[in-house]
Amino acid sequence: MKRRQFLGTAGASALLTGGILSGCGQESNPTAAGVAPQQQKYQWKMVTTWPKNFPGLGTGANSLARLIGEMSGGRLTVKVYGANELVPAFEVFDAVSSGTAELGHGAAYYWKGKSEAAQFFAAVPFGMTAQEMNAWLYYGGGMPLWAEVYAPFGVLPAAAGNTGLQMGGWFNKEINGVEDLQGLKMRIPGLGGEVLKRAGGTPVNLPGGEIFTSLQSGTIDATEWVGPYNDLAFGLYKAAKYYYYPGWHEPGTTLECLLNKQAFEALPADLQSIVSNACRVANADMLSEYTARNNTALQTLVNEHHVDVREFPRPVLDKLRVISEQVVAEIAGQDAMSAKVYESYQHFRKQVVAWHDISERTYLNVRGD
Ligand code: CA
Repeated sequence: MKRRQFLGTAGASALLTGGILSGCGQESNPTAAGVAPQQQKYQWKMVTTWPKNFPGLGTGANSLARLIGEMSGGRLTVKVYGANELVPAFEVFDAVSSGTAELGHGAAYYWKGKSEAAQFFAAVPFGMTAQEMNAWLYYGGGMPLWAEVYAPFGVLPAAAGNTGLQMGGWFNKEINGVEDLQGLKMRIPGLGGEVLKRAGGTPVNLPGGEIFTSLQSGTIDATEWVGPYNDLAFGLYKAAKYYYYPGWHEPGTTLECLLNKQAFEALPADLQSIVSNACRVANADMLSEYTARNNTALQTLVNEHHVDVREFPRPVLDKLRVISEQVVAEIAGQDAMSAKVYESYQHFRKQVVAWHDISERTYLNVRGD
């Protein structure tokens, strides 16, 4: 009896928050209907912040849903809804929290209104890359903190994708100095948006589906979205002239799967394991896909659409980095949870930078074309 109590909720949460080997068995409870959990079929909904079937992000959500269905032999099937099909993009978190949908697919920086600390689990300007984020989340204490941030809402998080390093964005004028950011109305979410604001610009938060029209009509002057693969799909090259890099504001954005805690914990242990490990597969798979498809999309943008690809001038990046450090540090002062996450993130970042300075950075600089 003691063992069963111990393995209850704690065991279920460990599947999502711990390392891959840490999940331990949970004895299953018979359902109210008296059907053994191994025979019971579950039909879940997944709401997403992405346009339906959008390359990489929407299709990443589709893949995750399909994988859960396949791995469970059809015992747990997931129907995916694009943004606005069941709920609007920015209501995905609430929908999962309330149980309107059992699963959600989005990015944690969309939920800074719920908790400032959420932003650390998507992207931090001048922060960690995809590889470093995964290391922090799975083996550096990140996942348990993420679970703690969402706990008051009855939501469990799982990393479920990563775009890799993004692009700096699309501009209709050259950015030659910090002064060119003055008054710039740019779609840029999260912490990057706050940094732009302090550099003199006006950040706008728009869901993906509204970006192209807003840029083309002049409602916004500039936008970032993701990288060549997704930006090509949106046709952003038709609405802006210059394509700047690097994506200082999103150096390796983690996408998330949100799980309604109650629904997850009501699953038998094997289905819980399937859901959490399907998220792991989806997380790794999306990064592989982005890395492969960004290559070819960049060639298409340059060779077929004659996009002017530019590097931000170093003084602009230096200025943005200084502001970023202030902005990120200020979040830590917002509340105790944010301070805790900031401390963990910064501690890990410092260590991984020391290692990657002598490994990845040195190698990339010397390996040649
Ligand atoms: Ca972005």
